[in-house]
Amino acid sequence: MSDRNQRITFARSPRGLPVPEDFGADETAIPAPGPGQFLSRTVYLSLDPYYRNVMKNSQIYQDRLAPGDVMVGETVAEVIESHHADYKPGDIVAVRNGWQQYAVSAGQGVRRIDPSLAPIATALGVLGMPGMTAYAGTVFLAAPLPGQTFVVSACTGPVGCAAGQIARHMGARVVGIAGSKEKCEYAVRALGFEACVNYKDGDLVAALKAACPDGIDVYFDNVGGSTLEAVTRNLAMGARIVLCGMIEAYSMDTPPPGPWLGPIVGARATMKGLVVYDHMHKFSEMQRVLSRWIREGSFTWRDDVTESLSRAPEAFCRLMRGQNFGKALVRVGAEPVIRQ
Ligand code: NAP
Repeated sequence: MSDRNQRITFARSPRGLPVPEDFGADETAIPAPGPGQFLSRTVYLSLDPYYRNVMKNSQIYQDRLAPGDVMVGETVAEVIESHHADYKPGDIVAVRNGWQQYAVSAGQGVRRIDPSLAPIATALGVLGMPGMTAYAGTVFLAAPLPGQTFVVSACTGPVGCAAGQIARHMGARVVGIAGSKEKCEYAVRALGFEACVNYKDGDLVAALKAACPDGIDVYFDNVGGSTLEAVTRNLAMGARIVLCGMIEAYSMDTPPPGPWLGPIVGARATMKGLVVYDHMHKFSEMQRVLSRWIREGSFTWRDDVTESLSRAPEAFCRLMRGQNFGKALVRVGAEPVIRQ
């Protein structure tokens, strides 16, 4: 192992869509763990849309970034040196190392990963924060009934693919919305959705009407904007909308005007805002349920892996343009050999 620690830093708040020049890069010595700390090497870095909001220092996140700071982010890492009573070398953990190869931690907010459950990268995707988001929004907020029509946007990403498959397991008729023919084919073939509508392919209101002839009972909204607007034109009576993400607006400097809410009144619909951190006490329940379905072969996901930390900025820019296909990850270091 080299004695240097490569880092990707925050350079400036993006204007509009992020570009690689919004990031910097530097190298430091590998930090040494003090008493009560451990040192870990990053294996996978998670790329998540909310980093775009952190980069504008949005007040709703605890993270604050100044130019030159290492970019924040969740990682899967291997403990390589430890003075912490609960962690030993070889342990695999989910830890907020940020965009760098090595970091020390005092154990706060660290989650131990059980490699026997599923591939370790899932701790950042369907068995991590995105999976918890999908589970909470679908099971606790939307609660689709068997036979009801459940529509989910960004349906091949970690939140969308998990939400749709959870709804399918609950007996709902699931219709995805995605941004390419390839993504839509994957949603039907691999995720088992009844149908999938490509919103870039013509009139979305009409396409949703054709795919959801009895109206939409539940909409799990990952994008907001014009897609949300089109869904509200197709609501069934008593529909529920879970507002999870508004990626369309994250790269706008001023918030866009909201959708016309008349159809919400007409359908006697309910809209609920979802914040995953309110539901973390149900994390082990989510992991138990989803990992059982993974073992049984009735739940799947896709990873979109970029090799090398130096390419993380470009991969993040791709994610914010909607060009990822699956959970956006960066492989920062080699996968550890797991001894079961
Ligand atoms: P993701 O689906 O892997 O990536 C985002 C996807 O959004 C893109 O691949 C793209 O897919 C779609 N998209 C639609 N319109 C877009 C636009 N104008 N610009 C860019 N992308 C667009 O992401 P994820 O991690 O699963 O997260 C999904 C959503 O959930 C995000 O909005 C995220 O912020 C939100 N979220 C919320 C919470 C919470 O607590 N409420 C927690 C986690 C995540 P298509 O090509 O298929 O459209």
